[in-house]
Amino acid sequence: MPRHHKNLNRLFIDADLRVGKSFKLDMAQNNYLLNVMRKKEGDQIILFNGRDGAFLAEIAEAHRKGSTIAVIQAHAKQTPTSDLWYMFAPLKSGRLDYMVQKATEMGVGHLQPVITQHTQLVGSLKIDKIRANVIEAAEQCEILSVPKVHDQVSLVKLIEQWPTEHAGRKLVFADEGAPVDGAAPSLMEIKDQPIALLVGPEGGFSADERKLLLDQEFCVPISLGPRILRADTAAVAALAIIQSNIGDLR
Ligand code: SAH
Repeated sequence: MPRHHKNLNRLFIDADLRVGKSFKLDMAQNNYLLNVMRKKEGDQIILFNGRDGAFLAEIAEAHRKGSTIAVIQAHAKQTPTSDLWYMFAPLKSGRLDYMVQKATEMGVGHLQPVITQHTQLVGSLKIDKIRANVIEAAEQCEILSVPKVHDQVSLVKLIEQWPTEHAGRKLVFADEGAPVDGAAPSLMEIKDQPIALLVGPEGGFSADERKLLLDQEFCVPISLGPRILRADTAAVAALAIIQSNIGDLR
């Protein structure tokens, strides 16, 4: 797909978008536009909302309390949401932010936090922060279909509910105990099926959890090579392997 307006900033907004529409930005987005993006009256930006495609827009009126934006022209058609799910044990803040951004860049359509025995959470999981990171990555990487962030679920419940919630979907499980003979053959066997990727916490899966996973017929263990990777690295490596073998980098 050709990319245009490379130098125009992209802004995600909630509002419906269509040519000819004008609207006021809320305080947070107005602040971002004027103080972070440093935009002025008359400047152009690209707007997207994850539903209507991307639009060229102009700052019709810049105001500290709420600028008015005019939608000028359609810029790119909406792309469908990717069917690739990324399921992950939440990490501590900085690494979690990184992992969520990278997973978005790598083309996942759904992010599913999974609580495991060795998951180390400081306080409760901040879903809003995950969403903000997803949006930031989408803005930077010209992704129009913003991945959906789902509420956290325990690993046991996820597995229990799989046949109803994820019927027909394979769970590709990054398993450092899997034979180190390349993930490609295992992936090729499921190349036409919907899949989810699961990566464990920094402390790995417990022996019980690993057994639970390996006992499921929908579970496909893959190795990421002879080195133990940190969870955020494992996410990027596994997604690159999946996308290049059976996904949109094929
Ligand atoms: N078991 C570990 C390290 C966990 S690494 C320990 O003893 O601390 C975090 C997660 O990354 C793992 O749960 C696994 O899903 C994934 N991972 C890391 N290296 C991997 C490899 N070589 N192959 C497959 N998965 C790997």
